[in-house]
Amino acid sequence: MVRLSTSPLRWRCAGVVRRALITIVWLAYPHISHAANEDFVTFERGSLPIIITAPHGGEELIPGVGLRGCGTSGVNCNTDLHTDLLADALRDAVAAIMGQAPYVVMGNVDRSQIDYNRPASLAYDDPLAAPFYDAYHNQIQAYVDEATARWGAALLLDLHGQSSAPTTIFRGTQNGATVAGLLALYGPDAITGPNSIFGQLADAGYTVKPDVNLPWESQIEDPEYAGGFTVQTYGAGNTDGRINAIQIEFGIDLRDITGNPAAIDDLAASMAGATATQYTSFPVTAIPEPSAVLLFGSGLILLSVVRRRRPRR
Ligand SMILES: [Zn+2]
Repeated sequence: MVRLSTSPLRWRCAGVVRRALITIVWLAYPHISHAANEDFVTFERGSLPIIITAPHGGEELIPGVGLRGCGTSGVNCNTDLHTDLLADALRDAVAAIMGQAPYVVMGNVDRSQIDYNRPASLAYDDPLAAPFYDAYHNQIQAYVDEATARWGAALLLDLHGQSSAPTTIFRGTQNGATVAGLLALYGPDAITGPNSIFGQLADAGYTVKPDVNLPWESQIEDPEYAGGFTVQTYGAGNTDGRINAIQIEFGIDLRDITGNPAAIDDLAASMAGATATQYTSFPVTAIPEPSAVLLFGSGLILLSVVRRRRPRR
């Protein structure tokens, strides 16, 4: 099991040593090197029903595994810069505020080899990448199963980065479908109200999209960031509302540590405060009846289909 280091530098150094060892093993015993797929996933068990995932922050290359067709047919291989550091910092910041740590799963393989936020058929070109992709998702599934067994439900935050709106934070829930459990329990306030993560971030001065001041019905998520494979797979639609999953896309300026070395820690502190307020205001452990959630979720999916058919402004 790979443990998180509290020091990013130590973590990086450990990564260099690990990569060197993997390369040596690869050269000496190429037939067994792929058994080490867990080395490319960083994970840490938590003691809160909150799971943080980060699929696009890694930059490690697996020796001997071919690349994806980056740049062709819309294949995006861009790293979500420093979202691995953000996941690590957010875990520590939540633990500091709440006294209990969330679960964390990070994919460390560079997106040129694996895109963890895609179904397997689109995630890699080389079949040798399959066990490394599976290791990431098996770990998320294990934590989802464990959290469900321990608390009955959990909140999953899938951390990403985007560059099109450098200071904006986008929400992705498939217009509510991946958080249908929270919506069924508490209504839109749990997603966009003053005590929600996005309401708190807006209150702290961040630009968030959709605008939390608009009526819920008008808060159409940007299709580019509306919630990908991870939140759709593990979110409310597939779990009777028990796992409520939110994709969060942080603008590049918010993650830029060149002019502000504290940028990641500042962002993690804001996110941790917002997450703690969300969690205590809208506890995920009050489970609605699965049938009610399914009904509610179906309505939301229908609504989002209707919304997608409308011409964009
Ligand atoms: Zn991403």
